[in-house]
Amino acid sequence: MRRKRGGGSLIIALAIVAFAAMRFFGSTSVNPVTGKTERVSMSAEQEIALGLQSRDQMAQQFGGLYPDRETQLYIDQIGERLVRMSDAARSPYPFDFHVLNDPKTVNAFALPGGQIFITTALLTRLREANGSISEDQVAGVLGHEIAHVIERHGAERMAEQEFFQTLTGAAGVATGNASSQQMAQMVANFVSMSYGRKDELESDDWGVKYMIQAGYDPSQMVKVMQVLKEASGGTSQPEFSSTHPSPENRIEQINFSIQKWNSELGR
Ligand SMILES: [Zn+2]
Repeated sequence: MRRKRGGGSLIIALAIVAFAAMRFFGSTSVNPVTGKTERVSMSAEQEIALGLQSRDQMAQQFGGLYPDRETQLYIDQIGERLVRMSDAARSPYPFDFHVLNDPKTVNAFALPGGQIFITTALLTRLREANGSISEDQVAGVLGHEIAHVIERHGAERMAEQEFFQTLTGAAGVATGNASSQQMAQMVANFVSMSYGRKDELESDDWGVKYMIQAGYDPSQMVKVMQVLKEASGGTSQPEFSSTHPSPENRIEQINFSIQKWNSELGR
């Protein structure tokens, strides 16, 4: 009897895994801007709605919107130029850029669907030698975030989470054992962490392309990495945390991307 019940659970668990895998691996689509294959279960419309829904809550976590209108307009102009003059113009997302009133957390991030944020702590560190804010460095940060949106990294991570949550549940069904559930969760965390590194490098690469297309100086993205490196001793930086590639590794790849895109784009 025990044996039979155990076998039934295993079959149910395998069925769950098979269904989840079919859903996960079956839900591929080709990105209209980058031409790459991606695994997402949301439509662009759903991404946009989700981004708008979470926008205010996200802003509140980083000091709320920065009240200085001139600074906000300046950031809007840089973001809009990047979108208008690059491949990003072909994406379905209505991009919106926000300065957040957080003087401590050096960070920038993007929600699915086009909501993009930069903290004043990061913005005030992006400077020219003469002390004024560097438009090229701001463009570097915004270009990187635009790339996260276009490459649908948020939606991809959510599809993965769904998949691994199902696997975790299936592991519990098969063994009736909590520790194997924890094991599956650990595996899920590890996988999404390593995807995180890949996402960052991809966004650096496409961000450099958008900078070049919009007429910004891509070498200033290297300066941004130096700023992040200097700031990394400070408060926690989700976008640039220890699970992400080190600024040194990113600089190496950014220099490679600059050469690659310059020659591909004939600059
Ligand atoms: Zn990033």
